[in-house]
Amino acid sequence: MNAAGVAMLIAALVVGTASAAESTDAWDGAATGRSALLPAAGTSTVRASPRHARSSPAARAPSSTSATPAPASRAPKPAADTQVDVRILSKHRPARLRLDGPRSLEVVASGNTLIVDGRPQPHALRLDAGRWHVRGRGLDRRYEAALSLEARDGELLVVATFELETYVAAVTASETEVDTPFEALRAQAITARSYVLASGKRHDEARACDLTHCQVLRGEGFARHLRRARDAARSTEGIVLRLPGGDIALSPFHASCGGHTAEPVAVFGAPDRTGAAAVPDRCPASPWRAVVPRALVTAAATDALGGPAQAADLLLDRDSSGAVVRVVDRASGRDARGDAFFRALGSRAGWDRIRSAKFSMTLGGDQALLEGQGHGHGVGLCQAGAALLARQGWTAEQLLAHYFPHALPGKLQDK
Ligand SMILES: [Zn+2]
Ligand SMILES: [Zn+2]
Repeated sequence: MNAAGVAMLIAALVVGTASAAESTDAWDGAATGRSALLPAAGTSTVRASPRHARSSPAARAPSSTSATPAPASRAPKPAADTQVDVRILSKHRPARLRLDGPRSLEVVASGNTLIVDGRPQPHALRLDAGRWHVRGRGLDRRYEAALSLEARDGELLVVATFELETYVAAVTASETEVDTPFEALRAQAITARSYVLASGKRHDEARACDLTHCQVLRGEGFARHLRRARDAARSTEGIVLRLPGGDIALSPFHASCGGHTAEPVAVFGAPDRTGAAAVPDRCPASPWRAVVPRALVTAAATDALGGPAQAADLLLDRDSSGAVVRVVDRASGRDARGDAFFRALGSRAGWDRIRSAKFSMTLGGDQALLEGQGHGHGVGLCQAGAALLARQGWTAEQLLAHYFPHALPGKLQDK
C-alpha cells in the first residue's frame, strides 16, 4: 500500500474507532472474563523469599516498562501454600462497604481511620472465614474467604484470604466464558493454580490482586458457572505444572493467540519459567486495528527505549508467530524488548485497542495504523484455542501438553 492509501485507510479507521478510543480502562478487560493480558516483570515490592523476588517473568502488569526479569535465584523452596491472600476491590476504591455473612456490619474509611458500625476502630478489622456478601457503590460480590480491612487515605484496603482450591475455582470462573467446555476449565484450573503458587508475593499487602495484573477474581458470579469451575478445580485438586527441574511453572495464559502462541523467552526474557513454547494453534485470528496519534507512538518508543526516538526511525523485529520481540531505533541504535514497547503503547492508547503484541505498524501523516492479531501476550494457554480444542474432544492433559510442552502435570506434594 502506498502512503496515500495508508493515509486514506487511516482516515477511514479514525472515524470508525473514535468511540472505542474513549475506553482506556484496560484492566476490566477482566470484566469480560477474557483476561490475563499482560505478563511483565514483577512490579510489586516483594517481601517473600528471594526465590520469588522480582523473578517472575509473567507478572501481568502494564505498570512497568522494565520487562527484564531478574534471573531466578536458588533459595530454598517455601512450604507448599494452602492459602492465598488477595487484595480485592482496589479498582473500585471503596470508601464504604456493607458486609453480610457470619455477621453484618458497615465499614467506612475516614482518612486513615476505620469506622465499624459508626465506631472508630484502632486496628485493622479481621473477619473470620465464611461466605461474605460485600456491597458498596457499584459493587455487589460474594467471597468465600476470611477478610481483613484497613483504612488508608479515605479508602478501604480489603484483603481476602482464600483456601487455595477456593481461589483456583473462583479464578477459573472469573477467567473463562460461561460456555467454556469442562476440559478447558480443568486446564485453566491447573494453569491458574500453578501460576499463583509460582508467582510468589506480588503486592505489598497480599500475594496477588484481583485484576489481570495477577489473575482476575470477581467474586462468585453466576452460580452455574461457578459450580462447573469448582468441579474443574476439585477434579484437578493439587495438580500443578512442573518444569523439568521440579519448580512449579509460572504458567501464563491469555485470551487468544491469534493462530500461533508466542515464544516465552522472546516475550518475558530468560530463563524460561513458563514451560510454554511457541506452537501453532487452531483459534481464530482475532484481527484488530487501531489508529493512534504518531505522537503517542513516539512517546511510547521514547519510554521503552529510554531515550528520545522518532516513530519514523523505528524498526519492529517480529518472531515467527508475528509477535514484536524487539524494537530498534535506527537513528540512535538503541533497542528494547518488544514487550516493553507493547506495554508502553497499551498503557497510553488503552488495552482494549492495543490488544496484543502481535502487530505491524504503518505511519501516515500524524497518525499510525496498528494492525494485529490475538488478544493478550500470546504465551502459554490460549483460552480461545483451549475452548475450541476441548469441543473437539481434547482432554485437559492434552491441552496442557500442547501449550506447555516443557512442563508436566504432577501433584503438589510430590516435591
Ligand atoms: Zn497483581
Ligand atoms: Zn490460540
